Amino acid sequence: MKAKLVLLPGDGIGPEIISETVRVLEVIAGKYGHSFSYTERLMGGCSIDQYGSSLTDETLVDCQAADAVLLGAVGGPKWDDPKAKDRPERGLLALRKGLGVFANLRPVKVHPALIDSSPLKPEKLIGVDILVIRELTGGLYFGWPKGRDVKDGRERAVDTLEYYDYEIRRVMELAFKLAKGRKKKVTSVDKANVLESSRLWRQIAVEIGSQNPDVTLEHVLVDTASMRLITGPAAMDVVVTENMFGDILTDEASVLAGSMGMLPSASLGAGGPGLYEPIHGSAPDIAGKGIANPVGTILSSAMLLRHSLGLETEAASIEKAVDETITAGARTSDLGGKLSTRQMADEIIKRL
Ligand code: NAD
Repeated sequence: MKAKLVLLPGDGIGPEIISETVRVLEVIAGKYGHSFSYTERLMGGCSIDQYGSSLTDETLVDCQAADAVLLGAVGGPKWDDPKAKDRPERGLLALRKGLGVFANLRPVKVHPALIDSSPLKPEKLIGVDILVIRELTGGLYFGWPKGRDVKDGRERAVDTLEYYDYEIRRVMELAFKLAKGRKKKVTSVDKANVLESSRLWRQIAVEIGSQNPDVTLEHVLVDTASMRLITGPAAMDVVVTENMFGDILTDEASVLAGSMGMLPSASLGAGGPGLYEPIHGSAPDIAGKGIANPVGTILSSAMLLRHSLGLETEAASIEKAVDETITAGARTSDLGGKLSTRQMADEIIKRL
């Protein structure tokens, strides 16, 4: 197959982990007879420096015309001024919105050989295999009105948690679809005891649940869900939730896996190009040293092959190679080892 990919290496360690991931994709292309073309564009802080904008219209158009987009990470202290008129994260939000990617998928699996890297007790981690699905383009981060004003002589700040039924329905349908290929259990996380938007969320979860009787649906309040992720993560399968709840819970869940550097993500919409990126940031503290763990990005490329290109065998072969690499004891410094980014990728490529 032929596929057009846009690469957005971004800032910090982004370029280091993206170049290793492209080597992995090229091995896959060679082995399975595919042809991937890569268009590299600036996004984030580097784009502010070059063009005065964290995401230019041209870059967004290129992304929209691609089969999939692979992103490293954006941000860093250089662009941290809260008063700046543009910030790297703005580019990320604009990219998600511009691609219409409404569902963020974050699989969290604990590799048996890394159980000791997690702060949780080993017995809690056996069998952990969770897919958190975060609604990505609605909710508190996008609701209107928002802003500051002065009311009754007091400074006031307003954010709005707003959802339309269709926004909940499409992410819920995806959760049930993906649960069918897994353990057939959906945990819908909300705050229905307090929030009206959560009562609509729950109502639609029940509606989609009734159309999918082979999948077990449970409703869990977000505060309880945050506890369960620590006390009983192995009992969870697919977790689906609102944008801000998901932002917080996905980071909490990532701790289970031992290192941020291990975890991939996919952001999907209705048929357009998907956006794939590791869950970590640009790690300015180790940028340029060649020691970043490339696994989260390499596993993101496996998700790209699966969800955007339909290449399940190829995706699974990358995941298997990563699995074997970790089992064999290959470790970058975040996992207590000494391998460089390049050497870690070499270990994975060797097993492909
Ligand atoms: P971070 O994820 O960049 O780093 C947190 C810690 O984890 C650091 O010690 C870092 O060295 C380590 N780490 C992260 N990824 C690693 C990897 N692949 N290999 C080895 N170690 C790794 O989070 P932060 O320090 O809070 O943020 C740094 C910058 O990244 C900020 O500007 C932030 O806004 C941005 N950020 C971007 C994204 C994104 O692009 N999606 C996400 C989160 C943070």
